[in-house]
Amino acid sequence: MNVLVLNCGSSSLKFQIIETDLAHIENDTDVMLAKGLIERIGSQSIINFQAEGQIAFKSAEPLRDHKQALLYAIKWITNQDSKIPGIADLADIHAIGHRCVHGAERFKKSVRLDNDVISGIEDCIPLAPLHNPANLKGIYASREIFGPSVPQVAIFDTSFHSTMPETSYLFAIPYQLYSRFKIRKYGFHGTSHRFIGYRYRRLAGKERDDVNIISMHLGNGASACAIKGGKSIDTSMGLTPLDGLMMGTRCGDIDPTVVEFLSHNEGITMDEVFSVLNKRSGLIGISGLTNDMRDLLQEEKEHQDRRAKLAIDMFCHRIKKYIGFYLAEMNGTDAICFTGGIGENSAEIRKRSLTHLDFFGIEIDDELNQLACGGREMKISTPESRIAVYVIPTNEELLLARDTVRVVLNAPRIW
Ligand code: AMP
Repeated sequence: MNVLVLNCGSSSLKFQIIETDLAHIENDTDVMLAKGLIERIGSQSIINFQAEGQIAFKSAEPLRDHKQALLYAIKWITNQDSKIPGIADLADIHAIGHRCVHGAERFKKSVRLDNDVISGIEDCIPLAPLHNPANLKGIYASREIFGPSVPQVAIFDTSFHSTMPETSYLFAIPYQLYSRFKIRKYGFHGTSHRFIGYRYRRLAGKERDDVNIISMHLGNGASACAIKGGKSIDTSMGLTPLDGLMMGTRCGDIDPTVVEFLSHNEGITMDEVFSVLNKRSGLIGISGLTNDMRDLLQEEKEHQDRRAKLAIDMFCHRIKKYIGFYLAEMNGTDAICFTGGIGENSAEIRKRSLTHLDFFGIEIDDELNQLACGGREMKISTPESRIAVYVIPTNEELLLARDTVRVVLNAPRIW
């Protein structure tokens, strides 16, 4: 089956075409045929497409909206010059999987799209006002272009965390506020944490129910997840992706009175306060330089920049805090798994986050840690380490494609 996986942002459209079916899933032999990214939809859009093994196609075109962007991508996908094996026209796309950010309490697993599901995703807009409308743009456009004969599936970032117990997901505010407004922790990056759990299971040769790990997704957005018995029992992001770990531009955990204090003393509106917390905090806020971890590490090394160092130290300190928190919550863990742009590529951040955890018997092998970069999947702890440490590159698109196949074929989820 050729699955088109779509991930739409407010002004971007990201896609992959993945050939997969139940046998491919079982044997890990799925094939990524092509991928693409269109940015700045609504003005002069920047286009970057690539078929596997081919030279990249780059262009700039004025694309008005997501429908135009998708039509543009499809024109390239079905053009014989792009040389995507097995794809000649629209009929060669057999199913479509959409990444959806918020499924609230309604969507606990991936579902086939119909009018009722679409209105359910629309109902979740107040909980994710930036993300769900963007995801819906991709859904509306692809339903219009492909029509009802191509099955489409929605896969939610929140659904993996729907197994969290009340003690993890409730905020300690009046319970009626949860009942009335569904104010609670939902968690995000679920597809990534789920993929990490699945890959760990494969690497360690375990059954799903025996997977006990702490998954650390460290990118520009960052979150931690405690996976016990194969299920998410806690995660660091909350009602929105602002909560938890320190991130590129987001503050993560904060005393809520800071909001009122800032608004009052700076004379700024709530919107402006949240803009500070979402866009001008985290690594960029502390360093005053950048939200890019690579650049911060370089500043620290080459210029001994004090605030670059402080930002990095705070980032690692927060990771350590969550590891300790989850170790207590899970009564120990079998492994800590790093993923995301920083988690997959920075030996330095992995090392600094795990220092002074000797009490727990965590020991990483410096040489292996240095080797584990640029998409390598490997164990980096010493044989003596009481808790294993892994680097596992995430692949959310693959999981989106696999869920699409399973939902379309009504097959059980193996992870
Ligand atoms: P993501 O959001 O997952 O794409 O991750 C983006 C973050 O990963 C940025 O902060 C990058 O600076 C960081 N990153 C990518 N490669 C490296 C690297 N080799 N060392 C440190 N950080 C990196």
